[in-house]
Amino acid sequence: EAPLLAVDGLSVEFRVRGQDVRAVNGLSYTLAEGETVAILGESGSGKSVAAQAVMGILDTPPARITGGSVRLRGEELLGLPERRRREYRGERISMIFQDALSALNPVFTVGDQLGEMFQVHRGMRRKAARAKAVELMERVRIPSPEQRLGDHPHQFSGGMRQRIMIAMAVALEPDVLIADEPTTALDVTVQAQIMRLLADMRDELRTGLILITHDLGVVAGVADRIVVMYAGSVAEHAPARELYARPAHPYTKGLLASVPRLDRRGADLVPIKGAPPNPAALPPGCPFHPRCPRAEAVCAVERPPLTPVAPGHAAACHFAEEVHGAAAAG
Ligand code: SF4
Ligand code: MG
Repeated sequence: EAPLLAVDGLSVEFRVRGQDVRAVNGLSYTLAEGETVAILGESGSGKSVAAQAVMGILDTPPARITGGSVRLRGEELLGLPERRRREYRGERISMIFQDALSALNPVFTVGDQLGEMFQVHRGMRRKAARAKAVELMERVRIPSPEQRLGDHPHQFSGGMRQRIMIAMAVALEPDVLIADEPTTALDVTVQAQIMRLLADMRDELRTGLILITHDLGVVAGVADRIVVMYAGSVAEHAPARELYARPAHPYTKGLLASVPRLDRRGADLVPIKGAPPNPAALPPGCPFHPRCPRAEAVCAVERPPLTPVAPGHAAACHFAEEVHGAAAAG
């Protein structure tokens, strides 16, 4: 049987000042019902662009999909006419953005915006749609929903607004939910509540959840599998536990060393030195080599392939097996 979502060899390019710049280079992963895949990367790693391609909101130039496939229960989504894509958005795949305030319409009440989902997509009358809006607000645990239906987005706290966004995204019970940095604008305690809510929605609705994040700490405990992206390509992918315990790519090791972790309280945090490369001017060889503490001469000339190190675990490093082995020993 076809997996819920299968992304295979996805590539996306941008045209910048007459030059084609590859933003996503051969990204592959699968997602099952009720499963969470985290796509992790720094800004400019291609993680958001890859999510937008899956959501089908990249169709406008200058970004274009130059290769690969995105199949939802076996059906190819790339190349579907926009009219068909629109039927998928919200109904089958929906997306939660980082900034709820700009994603929600400031002019309309929250009750109207939630209700509209059911009026437009389910052909409900206004009164029935409002009842559904209340149900949704309860589902995402907004206190006293009936009293808050008439409030506008700016009257809610950041965390409550993000709950409203989540309510909009799950309204039509999509198969796949994509959350792009859903907690970045929030403080730490609210972040944890929102991650919990996303996990609950995933479990209640049996959706596949894709979490786009730059923060390994945020997805710990929620993600089943993690795909680490660097400069548009997959640096490493692994089951979450395995990735935390036995990273096989020096970049992932660096990320782990720069994230506060409960199991290493008091350990010094070591940021990765340098900045990610400009996608329009990638270094030759391994794109991580200018920043890599493990780099050798070969790294500046030969691009490392994704190398399997364990079941479901691979890393794009010439020394993946050694890095993985060292993590196991240490
Ligand atoms: Fe570092 Fe070389 Fe591995 Fe790239 S291939 S991550 S530069 S050791
Ligand atoms: Mg982004």
